[in-house]
Amino acid sequence: MTRLLHRSIGQTLPRAASARGVYITDTEGRQYLDGSGGAAVTSVGHAHPEVLAAMRAQIDNLCYAHTGFFTTDAAEELAEKLVNLAPEPLNHVYLVSGGSEAVEAALKMARQYFVEVGQPQRRHIIARRQSYHGNTIGALATGGNAMRRQQFQPLLPETHHVSPCYAYRDKGNDETPEAYAARLADELEAKIRELGPDSVMAFVAEPVVGATLGAVAAEADYFKRIRKLCDHYGVLLILDEVMCGMGRTGTMFACEQEGITPDILTIAKGLGGGYQPIGAVMLSSAIYESFANGSGLFQHGHTYLGHPVAAAAANKVVEIIARPETLANVNAMGERLQNGLEAALGASPYVGDIRGRGLFRGIELVADREHKTPFDPARKIHAKVKRQAMARGLISYPMGGTIDGIYGDHILLAPPYTIEPAEIDLLIERITQAIDAAIA
Ligand code: PMP
Repeated sequence: MTRLLHRSIGQTLPRAASARGVYITDTEGRQYLDGSGGAAVTSVGHAHPEVLAAMRAQIDNLCYAHTGFFTTDAAEELAEKLVNLAPEPLNHVYLVSGGSEAVEAALKMARQYFVEVGQPQRRHIIARRQSYHGNTIGALATGGNAMRRQQFQPLLPETHHVSPCYAYRDKGNDETPEAYAARLADELEAKIRELGPDSVMAFVAEPVVGATLGAVAAEADYFKRIRKLCDHYGVLLILDEVMCGMGRTGTMFACEQEGITPDILTIAKGLGGGYQPIGAVMLSSAIYESFANGSGLFQHGHTYLGHPVAAAAANKVVEIIARPETLANVNAMGERLQNGLEAALGASPYVGDIRGRGLFRGIELVADREHKTPFDPARKIHAKVKRQAMARGLISYPMGGTIDGIYGDHILLAPPYTIEPAEIDLLIERITQAIDAAIA
C-alpha cells in the first residue's frame, strides 16, 4: 500500500529521478524520451541552465511575500514581458498557479466585468463539447468532457455546449471549410438567441483543442466568425491557451494564427515549462478599466498568486521562447514530426488522422479508416499505446473515452521546443512501434 494517492490507485509507476533536455531518467536508470512534454508542459526542455540559474537567484533573495502586502520585480517583469508579446488589447496580466486556476479566474473576471458595467444578468457560459478547461468545479462545468464530468454533477449551472470545430469527424464531404465554419457559427448564434442575447456572458474555446481531441485546430474563418458574433451580441470571448499557448503551435499565442484576439486569454503549462506551477490570465484594457473605475479590485485571489520563484522561472522561460531561434525550431521540428508521422503511419488502416500545428500533433486511431469507426472502447487502445510507448522509452499523451457518445483514441505528441532532428526521428520510430504493438 502506498501512502500517496495516485490518480490511478494500484498502478505501479516508475519513479522519475532526473531529467535533462528531452529525456527523463527513472530510479532504475531507464531513459524516456519526453515526447509529450508530460501534458504539453515542458516547453524549453528539462534542466535548462538559464532557467535554473534564474530560479536560484530568486530563491537566494526572496521565496515568498504575500501579494496583499507586496509586489515583486519577478511578477512585474513577467507581466511586462507577456503584455509586450501579446496582441492588443490584452494589456494586463493576472498571475495564478496553473491552468484550472487560470480558467476559474477568467470566468470570474467575466462575471465581475458585467457586474461592474451594470449587466449582472449576463451569466450564461457557452463552451464546446469536446474540450477540456480544467478540473475545478467552474472549469470542469465549462469543459465538455462528459466522462470527467459525470461523477460530479450538478456542476456550475448556466453552462452550455455547442459543437467544436472538428473537421475530421464533423465536416461533410461536400462541405467547404467556409461552409462548415459558417454552420458552426450559426449553431453558436442560435444558442445565444435561445438563451437570450442579453444573458450570455462568455464563449470559451481552445484555439487548438488539446486534451480531449489531440491537437485539433479550427478551419480557417471559424474564429473570425466567432469573434464577430461575440462582438455583435456583446459576449466576451475567452480563449483557453493553457495547453496550446506559449509557442507550442509555432507562434507565441495560438490565436495569432486565427487573426483574432480574445477579451480574456488563459495560459499555463508551457509558461512554467515544468519548473514551477504557474498560470496567467491576460485581460483586455476594457475589463481592467471596469475594475479600476468600479469597485477598485478584482474580487478573487489565491495565497500563492504571483509567487516570486514561479514568476522568476516563467520570466526566463518566456525570454527563451521569445528568441527567434526557439519558434523557428518549433516550426521546423513540427513539420518534420508531421511529415515523418505521415510517412510512417499514413498508410496504416488504423490511423484516421494526423494533425496539428508546431510541436502540437495528434494521431487519431480508428478501427476502420474508411468509415472512421472508432475502436471498441473496451479495447482501451489509447491506454495500450501509452504502455507500449513507455516500454520503448517514450512518453506520449493518450486520450480516450466517450465524449457525447463518440468514443475515440487520440495520441497527443508535444515534445520540448528544443528537440533535435534525430530525437524527432526516434520519437516517430517509437510511437509507430507502440501503436503497432497496441493494436496487434
Ligand atoms: N485548460 C486546458 C486547455 C488544459 O489543457 C488544461 C490541462 N490539461 C487545463 C485548462 C487545466 O490546467 P491544470 O491541469 O494546470 O489545472
